[in-house]
Amino acid sequence: MAESTFKLTYATMFNPPEELHTRFEQVLADLKANLGQEHGMIINGEERFTEEKFEDRSPANTDQVLGVFQKGTAQDANDAIAAARKAFPLWSRTKWQERVSLLRKAADLIDQRIFEIGAVMAMEVGKNRMESLGDIAETADLIRYACYQMEKNEGYIVEMGRDPLVGYTATNTSVLRPYGVWLVISPFNFPAALTGGPSGAALVAGNTIVIKPATDTPFVVRLLAECFRDAGLPDGVFNFVTGPGSTLGQALIDNPDVDGVTFTGSFDVGMGIFRDFAKGNYVRPTILELGGKNPTIVSRNADVERAAIGIVRSAFGLQGQKCSACSRVIVEEPLYDTLVDRVVELTNKLVVGDPTDREVYMGPVINRSSYQDYQDFTEEFSQAGRFLTGGKILTEGEYAKGYFCSPTLVADVPLDHRLWKNEMFLPITTIAKVSNLDEAMKLANDVNYGLTAGFYGSAEETKWFFENIQAGVNYANRPHGATTGAWPGFQPFGGWKGSGSSGKNAGGHYYLPLYMHEQIQTNVE
Ligand code: NDP
Repeated sequence: MAESTFKLTYATMFNPPEELHTRFEQVLADLKANLGQEHGMIINGEERFTEEKFEDRSPANTDQVLGVFQKGTAQDANDAIAAARKAFPLWSRTKWQERVSLLRKAADLIDQRIFEIGAVMAMEVGKNRMESLGDIAETADLIRYACYQMEKNEGYIVEMGRDPLVGYTATNTSVLRPYGVWLVISPFNFPAALTGGPSGAALVAGNTIVIKPATDTPFVVRLLAECFRDAGLPDGVFNFVTGPGSTLGQALIDNPDVDGVTFTGSFDVGMGIFRDFAKGNYVRPTILELGGKNPTIVSRNADVERAAIGIVRSAFGLQGQKCSACSRVIVEEPLYDTLVDRVVELTNKLVVGDPTDREVYMGPVINRSSYQDYQDFTEEFSQAGRFLTGGKILTEGEYAKGYFCSPTLVADVPLDHRLWKNEMFLPITTIAKVSNLDEAMKLANDVNYGLTAGFYGSAEETKWFFENIQAGVNYANRPHGATTGAWPGFQPFGGWKGSGSSGKNAGGHYYLPLYMHEQIQTNVE
């Protein structure tokens, strides 16, 4: 892609150049011919293998073993932290310009391997081709954004005012310095961006890191770790461990030698980590990026076509398994029937199937447990609402060996039903009719979450929407995605309320300083 002027983002991915497809297909064929290999963890620059292993299977075809990974133990977790601790003094004292240069190299290596990592992503996560490539491109851009922030702020070294001391000269300097050992625990749905983004920021800032991916997606993160390794990061500066969150992950959290953590994942696990991490001797930085229950409000003045396209893309992209997925649609009564008809029509055109296929929009859901959740929720909705479309798992033919679900829209669900408030994380969206926008806003904000939100309506209504919505990332009148599609530097990403802890968005102005503490250096001559 370096040769063309095309810049891949989630907003441009709907119309990519042909070359991108050709290259993806070549790399996919190579990958398929070499599946099932064993991959180690990386601790202190060395490959680490354990007695117990686990298989990484594709959710699109559970007969397909993508790779074999190490079931790391508490001992491996502690070893990784010890390696990061040992590497910290040198890395933190390395000139920030040199750290930037190494991290830029890692970002370039990620770009160079975009088709390979993207193909693994499609098979491992079940994410469609363009969104998989988008996740990798976003990862490189997130790392570059952290580098750019470091440069723009000249290493966060700032001369302060001089105090008026008679007979002495004082210089006062504010320096942002790294904390130490940082954990990066990531979810399955954006395994590259949500590992690489926080890792890039933590590393540029001068921390050393331990990365732990979701058990469903170790392969993508292993390839990302190789890019860090091949960029020349010194041994122990980054460490990569794999294994269950409940054992290895918990051991990472419980280790007192950790100085900060970025956890991206579900609300319940995140809050558990927050509480456990608070058991240390003092308060340590805890960046949590948690779930969402993202609404789209459609006014009677909306452009129906834009709204319908945006809603369908955001409700069903990655099978509704985005923290930013549009899981609630709230429509003003005069436009309700027209909008619903169009949303249903577009939903019925979505192609579900093998996520590596060019024309497929929706792949499978991630695992058996999510597949079961889909069946339980649709059963519950069959009592509590009315399916406009979907509501069934897909089991015939090409769907027989994967976790495929039909995109589902549900109407007439009572507004006090629990599933208006709980994140389902599946291709299921509920639609409500309201009599005015105030009612819509009240409903939109009446959840524990505040991640993203969408709006379609007039210019004046849009101002009112931005003013009143309680969410970190908000889009108005956007056909490319009602609630999804953030890109570093354009839409820094983070949530309010139960969706996040720091109040500052990743890929934005205020993110990098979260990875450093301030030190004032006063020197009197
Ligand atoms: P989970 O919360 O199930 O898991 C996230 C990570 O935490 C995994 O690596 C998991 O490992 C690990 N983990 C689980 N238990 C522990 C523990 N006790 N100690 C340490 N680590 C642990 O989330 P999912 O992977 O299912 O991801 C989906 C969730 O992520 C959704 O709620 C979604 O909204 C949220 N999310 C939020 C985003 C945001 O930016 N706000 C972005 C993307 C997703 P293992 O897999 O081994 O259990």
